[in-house]
Amino acid sequence: MVKAANSRGTTPASPDCVRVLVVGGGYVGMYTALRLQRKLKAQLKRGEAEIVVITPEPYMTYQPFLPEAAAGNISPRHVVVPLRRVLDHCRIIIGEVASIDHAKRTATFTTLATEEEGTGPVGITYDELVLAPGSISRTLPIPGLAEYAIGFKTVEEAIGLRNHVLEQMDIASSTRDPAIRDAALTFVFVGGGYAGVEALGELEDMARYAARYYHNIKAEDMKWILVEASGRILPEVGEEMGKYTVRELRRRNIDVRLETRLDSCEDRVAVLSDGARFPTRTVVWTAGVKPHPVLAASDLPLNERGRLQCTAQLSVDAPRTRGPRETPPPSPTSRPTSPARSARPTPSTRCARPRSSATTSSRHSGSGLSRSTGTSTSAPWPP
Ligand SMILES: Cc1cc2nc3c(=O)[nH]c(=O)nc-3n(C[C@H](O)[C@H](O)[C@H](O)COP(=O)(O)OP(=O)(O)OC[C@H]3O[C@@H](n4cnc5c(N)ncnc54)[C@H](O)[C@@H]3O)c2cc1C
Repeated sequence: MVKAANSRGTTPASPDCVRVLVVGGGYVGMYTALRLQRKLKAQLKRGEAEIVVITPEPYMTYQPFLPEAAAGNISPRHVVVPLRRVLDHCRIIIGEVASIDHAKRTATFTTLATEEEGTGPVGITYDELVLAPGSISRTLPIPGLAEYAIGFKTVEEAIGLRNHVLEQMDIASSTRDPAIRDAALTFVFVGGGYAGVEALGELEDMARYAARYYHNIKAEDMKWILVEASGRILPEVGEEMGKYTVRELRRRNIDVRLETRLDSCEDRVAVLSDGARFPTRTVVWTAGVKPHPVLAASDLPLNERGRLQCTAQLSVDAPRTRGPRETPPPSPTSRPTSPARSARPTPSTRCARPRSSATTSSRHSGSGLSRSTGTSTSAPWPP
């Protein structure tokens, strides 16, 4: 892994450089690394610092533009930012962090290469940690959800949904079976947050526009349904804006159902808690997120909902204390490994720096979680 990384031109760590590990190259991770590489330009040049970004994709996805990409208003390539191009002073590792031992300032990660070689996770040490793996979709044990529902978090899902909607219009246009036609032209979105409302709004707009090119589909033939469990949508923008959006959506003939849940979507029928049943081939699930599983595979302090407990400055005070026999829970992202294949820090994934045995409480830089080690007399870093 290391050889491969070096052969791709990444700089091997010098013995006395400070390594900042950024987990996740999404919105938070990319902008933090971008800012750090600007602020630490001199240190990076002198080999005193190294910024390592570990992320599964070589690009950052600007999720707020996904609905526009799904509607075809912007090109998919304009929703993503190639990390290697913008973070040209960082070391980018395409992989997934599987666990974090912050007490030991060590993380383990897998890459496509480790999967291919079957070698299990690789270890990397760090001095500063920026934890930005985002969240994952919160799914519920709703019958049919895992089989039929479509997510909306990635460019692939957004473009896939666009193609899917157009395909349904083609099916509706070419079938003689009214039940198939009706199901094809019924689109159910679950979750009234940014993702659900914007995706529905943009796709309905796109489909209404596309309908003019079909000889036998009119915009009024389509059913667009928004299902939201609470009594409001878009809580982030305030109550008034939420109400205004509901009015606007309804004015466009979109069926907004508040205080309603999806009970089942088995056999291509969406059954709602208000008793309504909609035969449909499209259920888009955007009903919330939950903490990324890597948090549970770390020793960092979590709250009762499994979210990271941090200060107002987004820093973390201290790792959770683990019992001596307690081992980190396996991350769902990691594969079971044999003892021989368990994570091992490799020389070239270390950024070794002379450390004092004395450890002081950390000075938080704001972007990172905590300063790793140092003496009470040592100057805070970065200066
Ligand atoms: C359709 C949609 C529309 C939205 N619209 C708005 C809006 O209008 N306004 C607004 O404020 N917000 C909006 N949001 C929310 C906003 O996009 C998110 O709040 C923001 O992306 C969060 O940034 P993040 O860096 O925490 O997570 P993300 O941007 O999701 O980045 C997380 C990164 O971590 C990577 N990662 C995952 N697992 C691992 C791992 N094990 N190891 C390493 N890396 C990992 C991921 O691949 C990803 O690159 C929208 C979201 C969606 C889905």
